[in-house]
Amino acid sequence: MKILTYPNRKLRKKIKKVDKIDRALKKIVRRMFDLMYKEGGVGLAASQAGYQFRLAVINLTKNPKDELVLINPVITDRNGQVINDEGCLSVPGVTAPVKRSKQITCQALDLNGREIVLRDDELLARVLQHEIDHLNGVLFIDRLEPAERQKIEQELKELENQK
Ligand SMILES: [Zn+2]
Repeated sequence: MKILTYPNRKLRKKIKKVDKIDRALKKIVRRMFDLMYKEGGVGLAASQAGYQFRLAVINLTKNPKDELVLINPVITDRNGQVINDEGCLSVPGVTAPVKRSKQITCQALDLNGREIVLRDDELLARVLQHEIDHLNGVLFIDRLEPAERQKIEQELKELENQK
């Protein structure tokens, strides 16, 4: 398992729901966490690891007890707006300010198939929005103001040329 990086077209697909939580899926989730820790990220969407289903893993602290698995996540409520710097394991070396909803409520299933509801107005809210974007084929660089996008154009070109 490795992380797909921009401009890989697989990152651009809008992907399907998970319909079955089985041992194979649990194994993939474990490997996604391991890969995310190795790369120093706080969130990883399945599509970044080459899997076309709606699943993301998140851990803001690296403490195993804070591991979050989100299956088929949806944002059910959002409030306010805030701009903050963001980066992405799939766009290495690039950070830029992204405008996001300040507070969101997110509904998903956990690895046991139980419904969970997360509500946050800090880092978790931002990470959730970022990961759910991935599941819709959207990268944070798509959400930049034109002037900010301009600033990273050169770095993106370099990533495009590394192919
Ligand atoms: Zn990302």
